[in-house]
Amino acid sequence: MKIIRIDKTDWDSGLKKSADHYRLVGPTQEKDFFLYKPLKPGKAPDMSFSNTRLSAKGTIYPQSHTLFTYSLDPDQKDHHLLIEPENENPPTAVIGIRPCDAAAFVQVRRNFDAPDYQDPYWLNAYENTVLVGLACDQPGPACFCTSTGGGPYDGTALDLLLADNDNHYLAQVVSDKGAAFIEKAGWAGEVETDAAMQIFQARKAAAEDKIRSTVDTDHLADAGTMALYDAPFWEDVAFACINCGTCTFLCPTCWCFDIQDETHGMSGQRLRIWDSCMFPLFTRHGTGHNPRGEKVQRVRQRFMHKLKYYVDKYEAGVQCVGCGRCVLQCPVNIDIRKVCELMNNAGKQPVTCTA
Ligand code: SF4
Ligand code: SF4
Repeated sequence: MKIIRIDKTDWDSGLKKSADHYRLVGPTQEKDFFLYKPLKPGKAPDMSFSNTRLSAKGTIYPQSHTLFTYSLDPDQKDHHLLIEPENENPPTAVIGIRPCDAAAFVQVRRNFDAPDYQDPYWLNAYENTVLVGLACDQPGPACFCTSTGGGPYDGTALDLLLADNDNHYLAQVVSDKGAAFIEKAGWAGEVETDAAMQIFQARKAAAEDKIRSTVDTDHLADAGTMALYDAPFWEDVAFACINCGTCTFLCPTCWCFDIQDETHGMSGQRLRIWDSCMFPLFTRHGTGHNPRGEKVQRVRQRFMHKLKYYVDKYEAGVQCVGCGRCVLQCPVNIDIRKVCELMNNAGKQPVTCTA
């Protein structure tokens, strides 16, 4: 694997050159937290962040996305036509994305790029995006990425993996998209691979050693679906939930959406917007019937989807990258690690035949 040394004195100038070819998005401080935001010309990403409050999913899957506009007003140009936005996915580079957020795109892709349906909006944005990742040297107290198949130095879902090595970055070139970005930025200091990999390995071991939080997921597949569905612990798990939806909006692996038309007079737009399985309206039918009308049903759905249905459907682990955001931000301290333990323990119970 090719590894490039980027002196920090060359960092800003390289980003400036790359901005001629890419729309740059990067961590930006807002009050006491960070978000991934488009970088204004000449503004550098703030690489001092630990992790962002919202995940990077909105860089590919916007919280609100106009699918098309329309007008029935005969005085308007193109009236009675559905007009799709033009050039909405220019080449984009997400600078400093953490490995967990990049790994989430791999999980989410299974939904948006299925054999029988490919979502053109998500796929087009994903294909036009370069993920310039920053390895994580200071995992937070709620991070458990090593339990969900990833790690603070896991570059498999990235195009470039940067390690912050004092006065320079070492950049592993993971993909052709990453190589193209390096070329546009003009960073050319290739270093000897074995020596650089030793630095990566040492930093990786030190970072993983700081992860204090783990969950076991090895028996989730063994648990009977209906036994889990009917498990007695759901009332306790759901008791304090206020169905605020924070957990799902923060989560890089939650993908539910709604489609709504907004009309003003004779014109309007059709929007795809994030939705949440924690909201009562999410499943309410036109008849008024709601199959998940009770809070406990919605909380159970969130965890069953992430830790059972996804596990069984894709056989590729849980629908969670262990970023810890929902753990930290849930206002009533509902903790997916504890729920996972309950569900995994259920999978350890011997199946008894009552026939
Ligand atoms: S963040 Fe907590 S309280 Fe809000 S919907 Fe999620 S589990 Fe419920
Ligand atoms: S479920 Fe929680 S810990 Fe897992 S990816 Fe989503 S926000 Fe992160």
